[in-house]
Amino acid sequence: MIKKIAILGATGSIGISTLDVIKKNKKDFDVVLLTANNNYKKLSQQAKEFKARNVLISNKLFYKKVKKLLRNSKTKVFCGNTPIKKIVRGKLDYTMSAIVGIAGLQPTVDVIKISKIVAIANKEAIICGWDILSKYIKKYKTKILPVDSEHFSIMELTEGKTNNDIEEIIITASGGPFLNLHKNKMSKVTPTEAANHPNWKMGKKISIDSANLMNKVFEVIEAYKIFNFRKDKYRIVIHPQSYVHSIVRFKNGLIKMILYNTDMKIPISNTLYGKKNNIFKIRKIDTKFLSKMTFEDVNPKKFPSVNLIKKCLNFGPLTPTIVNASNEVLVNLFLTKKIGFLDIVKTINKIFKDKDFKKYAKRNPASLKNIKMTDNWARLKTTNLSI
Ligand code: NDP
Repeated sequence: MIKKIAILGATGSIGISTLDVIKKNKKDFDVVLLTANNNYKKLSQQAKEFKARNVLISNKLFYKKVKKLLRNSKTKVFCGNTPIKKIVRGKLDYTMSAIVGIAGLQPTVDVIKISKIVAIANKEAIICGWDILSKYIKKYKTKILPVDSEHFSIMELTEGKTNNDIEEIIITASGGPFLNLHKNKMSKVTPTEAANHPNWKMGKKISIDSANLMNKVFEVIEAYKIFNFRKDKYRIVIHPQSYVHSIVRFKNGLIKMILYNTDMKIPISNTLYGKKNNIFKIRKIDTKFLSKMTFEDVNPKKFPSVNLIKKCLNFGPLTPTIVNASNEVLVNLFLTKKIGFLDIVKTINKIFKDKDFKKYAKRNPASLKNIKMTDNWARLKTTNLSI
């Protein structure tokens, strides 16, 4: 049966990988919607290649350009905040939610209402808006599949298990490009160096988050939100080769881990094809590579971001929204060379001391309005703290 699919954030790293997976069996898919923000050329090229029925370019400045590029095609072009349910008529079989940042929250809520399966890469939507997402997941009986490699692995390892079965869940971290750099040199690193991840080719934001381990802070929160396991079960372990994605220690004495190559097409194709996925031809297991695998504990003096995990999980329910908003602002300031690399985590810590912090952190997380107000407040505070 032909699958009707949508990709939110089609022009990004995950979006492109998703289309690469589909390319192998184009005839199995009816591409109903592709979205992007600025990259109108890529979006138009993808629309032509995959004969997309609709495209949505969020930045209205590029609407006319997309229209022009797609003038000879059947693709309908939308822009701005056009509600997805107005674009997509009827039910989708599968949606990939791969917009970066909290900008992906509203579109993810929208697709949960109209898609049978939603694969979520957009971790910021999960950590800020899980209370809202889960309400609609239940109401519309939508199947949610995490795409983040660690979460995809935890899902595979813990299917049917409860807190009573599990002792510990390890999320691995490569340690990023500065794992072996002396702590004193971290203040001087450039955006180009920070974005140069040793194992993964990803978008800029997640690459910076990986370099200071903020990505792991988000991943622990993400796992805690998605799975029903206690927060004290999670641990981060550095594994520079990124071959093992997560490890679960069970109470029956078994320890299981999931290993695969650093290629996001593997979790993506598994969410697309389910258990019948056999489209991947992976290399024979390389024993030399296996014998070089190493693991070590995180040094919180070098990566102080990890101390934010406890704060995010124990202060108020909207603390992750505050930390995420602050981090989004700071990553952009770092990328445009307005602040140094270490200022990201330092400034996030300052926001906890603000007199209004508790008021915003304690708001009800099940309201999109509350999340937006808290997000706006944190952005403004962070900007003020950084100038
Ligand atoms: P990219 O930066 O490569 O792509 C982001 C996508 O989101 C682009 O299509 C971009 O459009 C679109 N976008 C950005 N801002 C907006 C906005 N305001 N409104 C609408 N669309 C917007 O990111 P990645 O693909 O690397 O990551 C996407 C998500 O997946 C992130 O949450 C990340 O943490 C998560 N993730 C990524 C992994 C990876 O390997 N890349 C691994 C695991 C999780 P445009 O191109 O036009 O700017």
